[in-house]
Amino acid sequence: MRMSNLLLPTLREVPADAEITSHKLMLRAAMIRRLGSGIYSYLPLGLRVLQKVEKIIREEMNNADAQELLMPALLPAEAYQASGRWDVFGASMFKLKDRYDRDYCLGPTHEELFTQTVIDNVKSYKEYPMTLYQIQTKYRDEARPRFGVIRSREFVMKDAYSFDTSDEGLDESYKKMYDAYNRIFERLGLDFTVVDADSGAMGGSGSQEFMVKSPVGEDGIAYCDCCGYAANYEKAECVNAPKPSAEDGGDMEKIHTPNVHTIEELVSFLGAEPYNFAKTIIYKADDKYIAAMVRGDREINEVKLKNLVGCTDDLELAEPYMVRQLTNAEVGFAGPVGLDIPVYVDKEVETMKNFIIGANETDMHYKNVNIGKDFTPHTVADIRVIEEGDACPRCGKPIKTAQGIEVGHVFKLGTKYSEALGLTFQDEDGQSKVVTMGCYGIGVTRCLSAAVEQNNDENGIIWPVSIAPFEVIVIPVNAKNEEQTEAAEKIYNELKAKGIDALIDDRNERPGVKFKDADLIGIPVRIVVGKKIGEGIVEYKERTAPSSAEKTVGAAVDDVVKFVESRR
Ligand code: ATP
Ligand code: MG
Repeated sequence: MRMSNLLLPTLREVPADAEITSHKLMLRAAMIRRLGSGIYSYLPLGLRVLQKVEKIIREEMNNADAQELLMPALLPAEAYQASGRWDVFGASMFKLKDRYDRDYCLGPTHEELFTQTVIDNVKSYKEYPMTLYQIQTKYRDEARPRFGVIRSREFVMKDAYSFDTSDEGLDESYKKMYDAYNRIFERLGLDFTVVDADSGAMGGSGSQEFMVKSPVGEDGIAYCDCCGYAANYEKAECVNAPKPSAEDGGDMEKIHTPNVHTIEELVSFLGAEPYNFAKTIIYKADDKYIAAMVRGDREINEVKLKNLVGCTDDLELAEPYMVRQLTNAEVGFAGPVGLDIPVYVDKEVETMKNFIIGANETDMHYKNVNIGKDFTPHTVADIRVIEEGDACPRCGKPIKTAQGIEVGHVFKLGTKYSEALGLTFQDEDGQSKVVTMGCYGIGVTRCLSAAVEQNNDENGIIWPVSIAPFEVIVIPVNAKNEEQTEAAEKIYNELKAKGIDALIDDRNERPGVKFKDADLIGIPVRIVVGKKIGEGIVEYKERTAPSSAEKTVGAAVDDVVKFVESRR
């Protein structure tokens, strides 16, 4: 490709809503352009990267015996109504009507449609196991679209679904996808961690996420360097870490705590430690209200709590007027004693003695509170967020925490969709059984951002060779010098003939501009043709190397080929 022909509107400045490095760089390097909230176009360079990512995914999926097909994004409502997800998706689903007033959605994920396709087209149990996939555009009306194509409202997903006649079969299909995912993310040049994920809400029996560790990741992950345990926050089991009790003994006693609302204020007012308190938070769970309690220095994990409560919608903090109505007090004084809604208590609170709680009365708390004696929980379970330094649930050593970008997700669905939609088969004895399923997603467009987030420097993107828009760029220093331009053209053609994805910067620009652009768009190697071409010498520089090396034309070409081919 000739740079003079390329649509490459690189930018110096980026809009203020581009907060993170990958978003800024993908805009500056003219990979993507925003069309609306969470809606992006891919300019030629960005599309080349996207197509390379897709190619790698396709190769590995095909190698794992998955078959590609393509479904529409515009989907009739019926299958989603049958599975119940028409309502479950709520505001996240783009819903629309046709001219006959019939309901449709723009597909957020396709479990229902793949299940229906198998119902309609697979005639015998002998056709299983079967794994089908597509690389296709998905639509989710995200509450907070942000970070460019990391969380957008239209994005490309690779979604695969496996169909088996037994749980053992599902285990095997899952393993094949798991292995393929490891190869895919390695080939994409991502530094990733596989974590155990929560499968409670979807009703399956196992689930893992592929996470790219990054401070801008929206998922918390807990991992142990000693034993290899890794889980996301929703799944990570918390081990109790008992703290000394408040010294005071005796019976529960009401205390006056005027103008004290937060744990910090209470700590200084009472001269106690945050872990001497148990805080009570009131939530709305679908159309009911519940209370949850954790130690004062801990946070409630709302996904664990949601799964425990078994509600459909995400938990929401109760509205202040409801808190007042339920506790007969201003917000900030809720407690379990005398509260008329179910109280879910974190298991660590069970290790506490003589603790302090809100008294359901404005400006009042109770001290010397003990579970069993002073109140009875509805349920005691693990509902807190794991913290750095907590004991690893597997080996007991201190756990580490990090933020992660979820780039892939593998999930043993079991019979949730096959049962809801009626995907059964007759086994060899003529008995009717339900097919068991797995689903496997990769955020294809999100992978681009994750790769940039992990591979950049102050000059721009550093694409891994496997997904770089071009593998090498040839730069004649002086576009008006015929000897230089002719030699550059020759090198460019030779590289192309050797199967290398080459770009030539044939623009009449100053060398500084050319070098800056080459670095910004992240081309892994460059060959600079300058004055020394008279002696047959060019400059060879890998994007990550601190400086360039002089080489003969032949050696430079050979080195590009070696460098690129070993990294594809
Ligand atoms: P998240 O928790 O980030 O919202 P999810 O768990 O809802 O994602 P899945 O249903 O598991 O997503 O979808 C499969 C993959 O699609 C995810 O692992 C992620 O990489 C990608 N993905 C999901 N939502 C988006 C989005 N809004 N923009 C870009 N990629 C997305
Ligand atoms: Mg997921």
